Amino acid sequence: MDDTTHRRFNPLTGRWVLVSPGRVRRPWHGGREAAATPPVVAHDPDCHLCPGNKRAGGARNPDYRGTYVFTNDFPALRPAASDPAQPGVAQPGAELGGLLRSAPAHGTCRVVCFGPDHGRGLVDMSSFEVRAVVDTWAAQEAELSERWRWVQVFENRGTAMGASNPHPHGQIWTCDALPDEAAAEDIHQREHFAQSGSSLLLDYIRTETRAAERIVLDDSDWLDDSDWLVVVPFWAVWPFETLLLPRRPVQRLAELDHAQRDSLADVLGRLLAGYDALFDHPFPFSMGWHGAPGPHPAGAASRATRSRRRPEGVWQLHAHFYPPLLRSPTIRKHLVGYEMLAEPARDLTPEDAAGRLRAVMAETWDGEATLPGGLEPTSAAPLQIRPA
Ligand SMILES: [Zn+2]
Ligand SMILES: [Zn+2]
Repeated sequence: MDDTTHRRFNPLTGRWVLVSPGRVRRPWHGGREAAATPPVVAHDPDCHLCPGNKRAGGARNPDYRGTYVFTNDFPALRPAASDPAQPGVAQPGAELGGLLRSAPAHGTCRVVCFGPDHGRGLVDMSSFEVRAVVDTWAAQEAELSERWRWVQVFENRGTAMGASNPHPHGQIWTCDALPDEAAAEDIHQREHFAQSGSSLLLDYIRTETRAAERIVLDDSDWLDDSDWLVVVPFWAVWPFETLLLPRRPVQRLAELDHAQRDSLADVLGRLLAGYDALFDHPFPFSMGWHGAPGPHPAGAASRATRSRRRPEGVWQLHAHFYPPLLRSPTIRKHLVGYEMLAEPARDLTPEDAAGRLRAVMAETWDGEATLPGGLEPTSAAPLQIRPA
C-alpha cells in the first residue's frame, strides 16, 4: 500500500476512509489553533464543578474528595416522566407524513467529575485515582444499563473539542434507542458473529497482534498476563486515533474484574501521557466507551465478572480516542470538503501514526515498568455521590 492512494474499510461501521500518504508532504498555510495553556489552580472559585461551588443550575456541589457524579443541570435527554409539554412538537412516534419521520428520545445525562482538583486531569492522577474513575464509570454503566438501551460514557478534553469547562470531567448520556454509531457497530458485530462464530473485535485483536505494525501499547510488554491492547486502527479517520481493547471477552465496563481495572488504569495513564508527550502539549480528544447495548438485568455484570473464562460474544467492550491534532499542537484536522461530501480522508498512514505514538510512549516510560504517578493510594478516597 505504502505511498499509493487507497481506501480502507471499517468493519465495525461498514464505512470507508480514503488514505493518501503522498499528501502529508504538502506545505501548510491553513489555520492554527491557539495553544492554550491549561489551568494550574487546584480550586477555581468561578468553576461550576469545583467542590463547594455553585453550579450553573443553582445547586451547590458537596465538598467531594474523590469522583463526583450528578445529573446534568441542562440535559439533552430527559426521562419520559419529566418531559415538559412541548406544544408544536410531534407526539412520540408520530408520522409527520411521507418522508418526515420522528421518534421519541428519552434518557438522562450525568456529569462525572474525575476528582476535586481543578488542575489535575486523568493524565496527572495516580493509578489509584484513575482506578477510582474506572470504578465510577463501571458502576454508573451497571446502574444505568438496567434501564436504558444505550449508555454512552465519554470525555471531551480541551477547548478544541468543545469542552466547556477545564475542570477534569466526563459525561454519561443514556438513550432508550440505539444511536447511529452504536447501531452500525451492533449490526456489523452481529453479522461477523453469525458468519464466523467469533467476536469481530477479538478477531481484529488477533490480526493486529500478528501484524504488529499498528500497536501503540501492549501490556504484555510489562505484565505476565496481558489484559489490554491499544492500536491505531487500520481504518482510523483521525490522525492519531486509537482503539483500546480488552484482550479477553468482555462485553461492557461493568464486567471488568479487579485485575482488568487495575491494568486499565495503568494503560490509560500511559496512553494519555504519550498523547501529551507527542507534541509536548495537553492533547485534546473526544474519547468514549462502547459496550453491549442494554437493558441488562440487575446483577448480570457481577455474575459475568465471577466467571473469568467467558465465551466470545457478539459485542466486545472498547474505547475510541479521537484526537483532532495533525502535526503540532496548533494544527488540527478538519473534516471538510471531500470528507463531508464524499468520505473521510487522511494523509498520515495509521502505521506511521502508530510508529510515532509507540516511539513517544517508549520515551515517556523509558522502558521502566513503573506505573503512572506511582501506586501509592492518595489521601483522597474514592467517593461517589448519587445524583438526586
Ligand atoms: Zn473546577
Ligand atoms: Zn465503537
